[in-house]
Amino acid sequence: MISEAHNPRNMMRTAIVFVIFGSAAAFAAGQHARNVILFIGDAGGIPTLNAASLYAYDAPQKLFIQSLPNLALVDTSSANSWVTDSAAGMSAIVTGQKTNNGVISQSADAVRGEKDGEWLKTILEYAEDHGLSTGVLSNMNITDATPAACYAHSNDRKSSAEIFAQITRPRFGDGVDLVIGAGRDEILTATLKTSLEMEKALAEKGYAFAPSMEAVPANANRAVVLYESGEFEAWPVVNRAIDILSRNDNGFFLMVEWDMHTTQLERGLKRAVEMDSVIRETAAKMNSDTLLLFVADHSFDLRLRGGRQHHSLLPDPAAPSAKPVIRVENGHTGEEVLAAAMGPGAERVRGFIPNTELFHVMMSAFGWTAGGARTAPAATASMR
Ligand SMILES: [Zn+2]
Repeated sequence: MISEAHNPRNMMRTAIVFVIFGSAAAFAAGQHARNVILFIGDAGGIPTLNAASLYAYDAPQKLFIQSLPNLALVDTSSANSWVTDSAAGMSAIVTGQKTNNGVISQSADAVRGEKDGEWLKTILEYAEDHGLSTGVLSNMNITDATPAACYAHSNDRKSSAEIFAQITRPRFGDGVDLVIGAGRDEILTATLKTSLEMEKALAEKGYAFAPSMEAVPANANRAVVLYESGEFEAWPVVNRAIDILSRNDNGFFLMVEWDMHTTQLERGLKRAVEMDSVIRETAAKMNSDTLLLFVADHSFDLRLRGGRQHHSLLPDPAAPSAKPVIRVENGHTGEEVLAAAMGPGAERVRGFIPNTELFHVMMSAFGWTAGGARTAPAATASMR
């Protein structure tokens, strides 16, 4: 006798209901992120965030980042070192695979400066493939490791001209739409030594080429903006970039990197506070269909060793021999960094996770699977 539950017809009905419900849930409006904005605090580890809050607000945990609802602690080790550089760190976040220090979005069999590895498809390339608009924005050199890992592939992060040239040779869609950052003189000098006629190549690909965001024509949907330095005001530039990318009904992916290295302590802390304000403004601007994800690519050797309220964290020029409240060694460190998120898909940002997991957080937020094969993200999500 066949029990009710095992009756083939009932099982079939269950299966049909599951399929209909499953796909309806998967495509229901609001279920997935329409846009993803990835904020990278370069070298913005937990000690730096803590110090930035104390510096700006004279109290702990006052940053907007520190109010985000979903948090994880992220391992940043690279394939060949416990302590990553920005190249391997960012490659892991945007491709889901760890690679060697110095390598830009290639697999770990790449040898820096010598041998290519497999070119790994980045979240930005997936977005292009799906017809979204894409952008990278940084107050560092736009061919530097972090932005480069989104749109280029190289066995050596120092190959600035080659990295820049890849903007005009996209593998998916029409390639990254907005490239905004510093390093104008360096990039122009490096490019002059190659055969690439940059301005012509960019014009052919439909880019406005400008020295500042203000100089980009109002109707431009694609632009390469090279500032001379990273000392531009963040929010107006981020705001305009979002407005341009938002013209695409399919949505967009934007990566915003802000330098938080505290080699110069006050400058680093100011920039951490600045990026925090940008994330706050972005959260106020965007609808609930946008995943906002903040993470550092690696931590930095900054330690809070004392101090109290109403007293400066910075060294006192009048007392140069006094023990500093904050001790900074100029180097990356290998402890976990904070990832913090809000919006669709943010619930997967929890626990101790490797940096590669953030790629899958973004992919599943969009409702995509890597290469059509990986099903683990959905399974992981339901387990949680
Ligand atoms: Zn870095």
